[in-house]
Amino acid sequence: TADGTTFNRVMLKISGEALMGDQGFGLHPPTVERIAREVKTVHDMGVEICMVIGGGNIFRGLQGSAQGMERTTADYMGMLATVMNALAMQSALEGLKIHTRVISAITMNEVAEPYIRRRAVRHLEKKRVCIFAAGTGNPYFTTDTAATLRANEMACEAIFKGTKVDGVYDKDPVKHADAKRYETVTFDEVLQKHLGVMDASAIALARDNNLPIIVFSLDEPGGFKGILAGKGTYTRVEG
Ligand code: UDP
Repeated sequence: TADGTTFNRVMLKISGEALMGDQGFGLHPPTVERIAREVKTVHDMGVEICMVIGGGNIFRGLQGSAQGMERTTADYMGMLATVMNALAMQSALEGLKIHTRVISAITMNEVAEPYIRRRAVRHLEKKRVCIFAAGTGNPYFTTDTAATLRANEMACEAIFKGTKVDGVYDKDPVKHADAKRYETVTFDEVLQKHLGVMDASAIALARDNNLPIIVFSLDEPGGFKGILAGKGTYTRVEG
């Protein structure tokens, strides 16, 4: 495109926690709006955008089951949490005049479209942002796996994982001043060294389909657009 990106279609994965701002829980609308503006800058470049948003700011299945809840029920609650986040993001994007569809892996026709692959592809071709909600629709999975699955199905060229730090480090950069950031790292290294980019099933699914994961910071204003144009610091997971 004119803005210098080689990407035509991408997946943006963000955690639910990215939407809670400085609060300890839930949704912080100004933060949702800020991320929506990041998405808009990339949308304005003509890039087709898929999104998956986690649910950890509201509910995580593992937490529920640790407190005695039946695991699959707790996981369904986590999936429903992702739908709330998706709707909040849709509202913010529509506030910026970006056509957006929430597509749910669990049918709830009054709230979101059901997932039909060809229909989703069509939305992307029409430059509508597609937010894939309710994870994979299955318990025992995460939204990282959902992002990888949908990115493969939609033929995205890469997954952009927006986090609090600007890449993948050999140890937690928040706790260790001497932590080193990788420019690139292989999927196998991520798995062997437990680098915590995404969970192991998501990493394996990306590896087996040659889908690169680009880890970058969502806290830098204009970060998403810059990364797509190859600027700024990030880690590319591939190979
Ligand atoms: N979840 C699930 N299947 C999926 C995706 C998510 O069961 O395919 C549930 C799971 O309980 C998870 C919760 O939804 O803990 C929220 O998703 P996740 O933890 O991935 O959110 P994030 O950490 O990215 O905010």
